[in-house]
Amino acid sequence: MSYRVTLIPGDGIGPEVTDAARLVAEATGVRFDWEVVDAGEKAIATQGTPLPGSVLDAVMANRVALKGPITTPIGSGFRSVNVALRQQLDLYASVRPARAIAGEGTRFPETDLVVVREATEGLYSGVEHWVDRDHTAAETVDIITRKASDRIIRFAFELARRENRHRVTAVHKANIMKTTGGLFQTAFREMAPNYPEIVADERLIDNMCMQLAKKPGEYDVIVTTNLFGDILSDLCAGLAGGLGVAPGALYGEEIAVFEPVHGSAPKYAGQDKADPVAEILCLELLLRHLGEREAADRVFRAVWETIAEKKVVTYDLALAGYTLHPVPPSSCSAMAKEIARKVPLVDPHAPLPRAKGAEHADDPHLET
Ligand code: NAD
Repeated sequence: MSYRVTLIPGDGIGPEVTDAARLVAEATGVRFDWEVVDAGEKAIATQGTPLPGSVLDAVMANRVALKGPITTPIGSGFRSVNVALRQQLDLYASVRPARAIAGEGTRFPETDLVVVREATEGLYSGVEHWVDRDHTAAETVDIITRKASDRIIRFAFELARRENRHRVTAVHKANIMKTTGGLFQTAFREMAPNYPEIVADERLIDNMCMQLAKKPGEYDVIVTTNLFGDILSDLCAGLAGGLGVAPGALYGEEIAVFEPVHGSAPKYAGQDKADPVAEILCLELLLRHLGEREAADRVFRAVWETIAEKKVVTYDLALAGYTLHPVPPSSCSAMAKEIARKVPLVDPHAPLPRAKGAEHADDPHLET
C-alpha cells in the first residue's frame, strides 16, 4: 500500500528541503505516491497565478500535503498563497510543536510545547478600513465566534489527550478585550471540564510572553487566537532552536497540510545550504497523522541523533554565532543523507528523547 500525498516544493530553498524530506521518507520504508504540483513563482510563470485551482483540487483529493515555503511577491497584487490555502481549505488549526532538539541552539533545552493557533478569524479576518477620508484613523475588526473558539479549544484538548500532554493553557487578553477575549475565555472554561485528566489554566498574552522567556519548560499545550498565536509560535520557534528546526502543520476537519515555519530564504536558494530539519520534522508530523508511528519515531530519533552528534549539520547548527561549539558546516543534502542513513538504524522503541528537566507546573490560577 502506498499513501498518495500532494507535494508542493515551493520557492527559494523549498525544492531543496522538500527533496531532503523525500529522501528521509524513502528511508522509512513507508511507501508514498507523491503528486507534485507547483504553487508560487513557478506557477505564476507557467499558469499566471500563484495558486492554480489544480493545486487546491490535488490537496482536497489527497487530503494530505507536504509543502515547502512559498515566496509572497511584494507589491505584485498577489495575495499570500499561504493565507489563501488556509482560508480556501478551511485549515483552522495551525499547530507548531516547539521542541528543543538535543539542546542545540537554545538556552532552554527543556522546551517541549505545542502552540495551537486558531487560523481563520480574529484580527486576521481581513475586515479593516479607514475611518475618515483623510486617513488619519483606521480600524481592524477582531472577529471571534463561539463556533471557531469551541473548535480550536476542543482540538487543543484532543491533541493533549492523544499526545499524553497534561496541561492546556489558554492565552487571551480578556481583561482588556472584554467581549472578544471574554468569549474565548468562556469557551475555554466551558470546554475544560470535558477533559478532567488535563490541567486547564489561563494566561494573559503579555504575562505569557514573559513566562515563556523565563521558563518555557513549564508549558505543554498553548491554545490561542490568530494574532497571539502567530506571535507566540515564532517566539517558541526561537526558544526551541530557531527557524531551521521548526516544523508546522495546518489541520482542517479532513485535510492536513504540513509546512515548516520558515519562509523561502531566497538568499540561500540553489546553494544546498539551508537546514533541512524543519521540513524533515514536517514529514515526521505527517507520518504521525497517517498513523505511521514507528516511522515517525525513527525520523525524530534520527534527527535528534544527527544534531546531537554534530558531525554532519548545516551552518545554522554548526557555525560560531549560532552555537558555542562550532564545527565545519555541511550541506543541506549531506545532512539529509545522514539523517536518512540513520533512520533504519535507530531504535524506534526506546522512549522518545524528552528534554531534561521538563517539569510541569499545575497552578490553575490566572497570573496577571
Ligand atoms: P525566511 O524564513 O525565508 O528567512 C529568514 C532567515 O531565516 C533567512 O535569511 C535565513 O537566514 C533563515 N532561514 C530560514 N529558513 C532557514 C533554513 N531552513 N535553514 C537555515 N536558515 C534558514 O523569512 P523571510 O526572509 O521573511 O521571507 C522570505 C519569503 O518567504 C517571503 O516571500 C515570505 O513571504 C515567505 N514566507 C513564506 C512562508 C510559507 O510559505 N509558509 C512563511 C514565512 C515566509
